[in-house]
Amino acid sequence: MKLEINRLDVLITQPGFPPNETACVLVCWETNAIRAAGTTVRFAIERSLTPAFDEEDTEVIVSNIPAVLGQVVYTYEDRTPSLINHWRRYFYRILGTGADRDVLSHHKTWEAEPRPYELEIINRHNYLLKNHTGAPTYSFVERTADAHKCVCIDPTTQRANYSNCTLCLGTGRQRPFFRPILHFVDYNPPQELVQIAQFGEHQTKAIDCWFSAFPILKPRDILYRPVQGDLWRIVKKTPVGGQGVTIQQVCRVEALNLSDVEFQKLPKSIPQAELLAVIREWEQTRQARLW
Ligand SMILES: [Zn+2]
Repeated sequence: MKLEINRLDVLITQPGFPPNETACVLVCWETNAIRAAGTTVRFAIERSLTPAFDEEDTEVIVSNIPAVLGQVVYTYEDRTPSLINHWRRYFYRILGTGADRDVLSHHKTWEAEPRPYELEIINRHNYLLKNHTGAPTYSFVERTADAHKCVCIDPTTQRANYSNCTLCLGTGRQRPFFRPILHFVDYNPPQELVQIAQFGEHQTKAIDCWFSAFPILKPRDILYRPVQGDLWRIVKKTPVGGQGVTIQQVCRVEALNLSDVEFQKLPKSIPQAELLAVIREWEQTRQARLW
């Protein structure tokens, strides 16, 4: 029998409003009915803070959930620390084993699935950014949980001892950022879009930008623009979209100083050859556009 995982839903049933510090996430999946008696199919749930499911950032939260003869829908309640305080987002996927081959489901988080017309808009935005108004950008998503404490943490104050620690970049967590994600960002957003975001007064060294639905970024995440070689930290974000679906993200970002520790670490974590290839491709797109 060929094992299939057809559907996966992830729903926050309790986000963990204070004083209750526990959140509850319902993970629900559908599989083709297990018909043969004596089935040995088992399910495991993997959870990650990144949709990339990096090996180091993926945990198996439960394994060995046995398939039951004739049962199609399975649920699991994941209890996590409060989700409200940290802008934390988990991605889930299901691994089915014990059939003729192992099956891994798509990953899912609790954001609603975009509807067809929303997908259409997202696709158009992606095209526009990649071919016209966007600049290649590596985004470093800050890890907000589940990271080992840095050696520089003072045991008494529980704070990072010095802000220029090259292990944690002053965050107090080792490996403070996920593997960077390459996407395209428009650093000269149309004025209407900024007005929708209602960011208010401009600070010096701050600019506005917009990008598409993926990756979902949050305040404190860092953008690296390889063509100019500058780093920006998100200070405010306004998602544009409706009913839980992000279509577009408008951000105010602040420039980091060359002397900041992030400059020593983050750009260097991207392989030089890859950076050059990205810049070269972008230059070619620009040339083609000028014709
Ligand atoms: Zn440190």
